Amino acid sequence: TIGMLGLDKEGNISGACTTSGLAYKMKGRVGDSPVIGSGLFIDNAIGGAAATGMGEEVIKTVGSFLIVELMRNGMSPQEACEEAVRRIVTTNPNHTNFQVAYIAINKAGETGCYCIHPGFKMMKYANGENTPITAGSHLK
Ligand code: ASP
Repeated sequence: TIGMLGLDKEGNISGACTTSGLAYKMKGRVGDSPVIGSGLFIDNAIGGAAATGMGEEVIKTVGSFLIVELMRNGMSPQEACEEAVRRIVTTNPNHTNFQVAYIAINKAGETGCYCIHPGFKMMKYANGENTPITAGSHLK
């Protein structure tokens, strides 16, 4: 999955995600990416979020919508990504066997990213410069 979030000069937020789905997926499986609120969610008044990884876990927690709602209630994008990962790992003891990663942005242009397993990277583009960021992770 490739998830993208943008904030323009007028402060408008946009987002997109594209995916080939999980490797070896069952025929007919629908992952999280095409499900608004799960793989991607934007509220132009608050911010946006996107997910990658095990789509079933993202769908069960409506992850991207959850992150935007947490930001609406005062969390930073980073705190909201961490809480969305926490929701998965605290309810699923099997979480050591799959990856989920989130990115988020708010109206102020603050960003966040967090994942279950180490190794997830996001690229932040601002003021003409790309900055690679290694996401923090629940498992070290
Ligand atoms: N999230 C995608 C899915 O579950 C897979 C991926 O991120 O590669 O379909």
